[in-house]
Amino acid sequence: MLNRNAKLNLTIFQRLSLGYLAILIVVICLSGYSIWKLSQLNQIARSLSSVDIETIRTANNTKDALLSLAANGEKFIVSRDKDFFQQFKLAEEFMNTNMRLMDEVLSDQINKQTFIVFRDRYKTYLADTKKEFQWISNQKTYDAYALRQRKTKRLNELITDLDKIIRMVRGDMQKKIRTANTIGNEAFHFTIFATLTAIAMALLIAFFNARNINDPVVSLMKGTQRIAKGEFDIPLDISSPPEIKALAESFNRMCARLKEVDQLKADFIARMSHELRTPLASIREATSLLLTDRIASSSVSRNNLLIIIREECERLIRSVNSILDLSRMESGMMDFQMEKCSLPPLLKKNITRLQPIASKKGIHLRVKIPPDLPVVFADWEKLDQVVGNLLGNALKYTPPGGQITVSAAPKTQSTDVQNPQEMVEVCIADTGCGIAEQDMTTIFEKFRKVKGKGSGLGLAIARHITLAHGGDIWVKSRPGKGSAFYFTLPAV
Ligand code: ADP
Repeated sequence: MLNRNAKLNLTIFQRLSLGYLAILIVVICLSGYSIWKLSQLNQIARSLSSVDIETIRTANNTKDALLSLAANGEKFIVSRDKDFFQQFKLAEEFMNTNMRLMDEVLSDQINKQTFIVFRDRYKTYLADTKKEFQWISNQKTYDAYALRQRKTKRLNELITDLDKIIRMVRGDMQKKIRTANTIGNEAFHFTIFATLTAIAMALLIAFFNARNINDPVVSLMKGTQRIAKGEFDIPLDISSPPEIKALAESFNRMCARLKEVDQLKADFIARMSHELRTPLASIREATSLLLTDRIASSSVSRNNLLIIIREECERLIRSVNSILDLSRMESGMMDFQMEKCSLPPLLKKNITRLQPIASKKGIHLRVKIPPDLPVVFADWEKLDQVVGNLLGNALKYTPPGGQITVSAAPKTQSTDVQNPQEMVEVCIADTGCGIAEQDMTTIFEKFRKVKGKGSGLGLAIARHITLAHGGDIWVKSRPGKGSAFYFTLPAV
């Protein structure tokens, strides 16, 4: 089955960003659509208030002005009263103003056409009226009945034209209001739909993001609970998101390391119990023999037994001291008594001490130390421990007939070009069994043992000591050919 998370291997940051981006796009679309619809509604509202309502108002005013003009004109013709003529003139001016306004506000082509017809008719009506005024003032005879008939007909036509314009504009207004209603309804439904979609999307994205992050975190949590119970065997299989995948990989590495450390601890306890139990058993056996009459009567046996007891006691002390030393060094509680030390006497003292064992094993011990070797700043006791351990190991892992060479030489450490450090390099080389490539770094870890008896602490302690002195320790070896252990110390 294809892992769901493997298909979409996005980081937590990418997942959250993409989720928010998707919601943002929906919100932007929704806002864009709403703005577009609102601008349409706004346009319609503006057209209704500034064009249609204004046109109807002007058309009504024109109608009033026309009726006033016609009434005052008729009254003047009948009464010849100047006041009516003045009123007629005022109405004419009002007519002119309103017609100018109508010409400006009318936008529709059909309405404009109707208005042009209206204007032409009005001009002829006005011309007839003014002609009649002239005839009256010149007391000219004319066919008053026919003229009135014509003027009444024209006036009716003018009123019909204005009514037509008002009707058509009202029709337009109705249409616009219906369109506005449709737009409003559409916008309302779309907004509800889009809002619900955005909410559903936000919930889905939040749910999937939370689940995709939560599931691996829960696996990780269960893994740590397993570790707490001491189960290191089940590795975590998390393929995404990459951050948690990396965390799971580190977690698996940590599990492997913990398992290794757990194994080392178990091995160490087994080895230490063997290390402690063996000398204790020998001591118990030797003391019980000493207590029996038969052995007590023989002085040779008694001496041998006492020597065995002493050696086993020393072995016990060495093991316990090693453990205590290492734990003190690891916790930073080891005190170093630093002083100027000359290495040749220290190396020679150790060689002299081990010479009898080497001779007994048929191993040739060689020394190559220049007389002018620089003095080092070190803790004599601790350095003695390092050299003793390296020489002891060389003796332990070199077969009879082999050779051990102890050499030392000044060396310049060039890590800092500006300020090169003068060092002294000591080498203890043997022609023993050698060390496999893969063990060359791990043997410096505590409790690491490849072969032979021992606690696996000697090299770990030697490494702590050399590093604490500002030096280093390493090994070069070829299996079957021998090993060369090097350590450096800063020269004074
Ligand atoms: P131990 O006290 O058990 O010898 P060390 O820390 O001194 O522990 O050494 C760790 C391991 O390194 C040993 O178990 C051994 O396998 C390897 N070793 C150390 N010195 C030598 C050497 N000179 N030649 C071959 N193997 C060595």
